[in-house]
Amino acid sequence: MKLGVIGSPIEHSKSPEIHTNFADQFDLELVFEKYLVSKNECLEWVKSFFESGGLGLSVTLPLKEVVLEIADDISLRAKQAAAANMLFLKDGKIFADCTDGLGLVTDLKTKDVDIADKKILILGAGGAAKGIVPSLLNENPKQVIVANRTPEKAIQLVAQIQELGGSQMKSSILMPSSLTLDSLENTSFDLVINATSASTSADQNLEVDSSIFKGAAAALDLYYSQTDTKFMQMAKEQSVAKVYDGWGMLVEQAAESFSQWTGFKPDTSGLLESRGA
Ligand code: NAP
Repeated sequence: MKLGVIGSPIEHSKSPEIHTNFADQFDLELVFEKYLVSKNECLEWVKSFFESGGLGLSVTLPLKEVVLEIADDISLRAKQAAAANMLFLKDGKIFADCTDGLGLVTDLKTKDVDIADKKILILGAGGAAKGIVPSLLNENPKQVIVANRTPEKAIQLVAQIQELGGSQMKSSILMPSSLTLDSLENTSFDLVINATSASTSADQNLEVDSSIFKGAAAALDLYYSQTDTKFMQMAKEQSVAKVYDGWGMLVEQAAESFSQWTGFKPDTSGLLESRGA
């Protein structure tokens, strides 16, 4: 079985280790490679990968949007996210899906973090935020609030989600005017999620007021890191009891992709425990 992950850069990707762990659980023979693929060559590259016997691809930055152009069929959640993190050759056609949101929701459930009837703050309105917001809304939270440094992107994100299936969602979604979070002062949240890319570099600052953590039961940084990110440190300083990075989401989104490619549902507990998730 020929699978792989494409992106640029790609060296950091943990996908080969994760999918090899899954394949070993079912004694499946797997070739899972990392491929450095640029935006310019992406469409031709993907086409030839599937023509030469490839079954599925994980897709990471900066290719999550461009791969939609080559897909014959796109899932509703990938349409809502306007991005795909996996491709799958099914009945001779390329199918694009976004498993990030399901990955996050599964991870939160595993960690006993409640979503239903809860007030959730999402920081960021990039690709990751687009992927997770529809899945969170499907879990019937009380409210999802999207805050972004560039407010126009939050407005666009909300409009896009409402256009593509928002009517099926019972919960409401709001965006404040800026990431200074002035409009959120004295507002408390049950769950705070960092979907910005601020944690990817030590010299980047996430300008948020620590009051956003007051009263929160949990905080999760989508970035996966061996050490606490600044966001995680801030949450712990504000006595948030449950504070996590994005490792669990990464493993769970991969498990969903693997299930679709192979028909086998892997056990994620070993990988989650290996990181103390
Ligand atoms: P992206 O599309 O480039 O979006 C980046 C977002 O972060 C934008 O909203 C941007 O705001 C905001 N931002 C960047 N630097 C900031 C700063 N210093 N202060 C405030 N806001 C800042 O990136 P992405 O694909 O959404 O990825 C976001 C994060 O999610 C990354 O850490 C990535 O590693 C993580 N992720 C994790 C998983 C997983 O499975 N665990 C999956 C996908 C992504 P502007 O619009 O104002 O520029």
